[in-house]
Amino acid sequence: MTDQYAVIGNPVAHSKSPLIHAEFARQTGQDISYTAILAPLDGFHAAVERFKSEGGKGLNVTLPFKREAWDLVDFHRDYAYDANAVNTIKFVDDKMVGYNTDGIGLVRDIKDNLQYPIKGKRVLLMGSGGAAYGVMEPLLREQPEQLVVANRTLEKALSFVGHFKTIQNIATRSVSACPYDALGHAQFDIVINATSAGLSGAMPQLPDTVFVPGALAYDMVYGKTTPFLRFAQEHGARIADGTGMLVEQAAESFFIWRGMRPQTAPVIRLLRRKAEA
Ligand code: NDP
Repeated sequence: MTDQYAVIGNPVAHSKSPLIHAEFARQTGQDISYTAILAPLDGFHAAVERFKSEGGKGLNVTLPFKREAWDLVDFHRDYAYDANAVNTIKFVDDKMVGYNTDGIGLVRDIKDNLQYPIKGKRVLLMGSGGAAYGVMEPLLREQPEQLVVANRTLEKALSFVGHFKTIQNIATRSVSACPYDALGHAQFDIVINATSAGLSGAMPQLPDTVFVPGALAYDMVYGKTTPFLRFAQEHGARIADGTGMLVEQAAESFFIWRGMRPQTAPVIRLLRRKAEA
């Protein structure tokens, strides 16, 4: 019987996950179906239970339910616990196991696809919302020399950094929070935009001098050249959007469910071609 998987969110019609997982299944010869489920804003729990009772094997969870998924699952694995968010659920017997693959996706895209090491680098992470929570621990595990978290609302950045300092045994010297206007002349090798500013054509206020020569500017928003990426390009940085992260986090989910790793490069190329068309 064909194993059933789905992405659940609200809205969800725009999701690229069905396309990505269909490509993975085709590539690896796995007999799965992968659909999109629109759950009512107050009906996430019921929709998950229904999918499970109908024999579903696993779910990807997208906005705005990642935190609810964290509350719902019976166990947290890998980075899910500290991320306060679950984006992948595997149904095992009658239990739900929750994972967070977003950070793994980001790190793989930066290190493996873009060939940009994180270890020993100065990293600026912009934003303190759900996406930032998801990537923080995997980023720290790469041992950057310094990780500065900047956010429009400073209190959120402070509590974000405080959260990871408490639970992570992080060398406190290397991780700090600040507002954008306090960045001054600080320079970074990798600048990651984990804000949703690009979706509305905006960007956080960055100093012109923020990039070292040859720096990488990474925007988690995918499929478009955001104002941040244009700014970075104008200031000599190498740029990348979040397409690779999207595909890599999906590949990790696929591995969790099916025990095999699909090739990501052809799927990243496919999504880029579709975005340009
Ligand atoms: P949240 O709503 O949880 O957080 C939004 C963040 O963006 C906050 O830090 C907020 O700052 C900041 N922000 C919003 N608008 C502006 C602005 N105009 N100027 C400065 N800062 C701003 O969203 P998420 O964290 O869940 O998602 C962020 C982005 O990451 C989304 O665009 C999403 O598409 C993308 N994403 C991509 C993934 C991928 O696989 N490529 C995976 C997950 C997310 P403040 O606290 O001050 O409000």
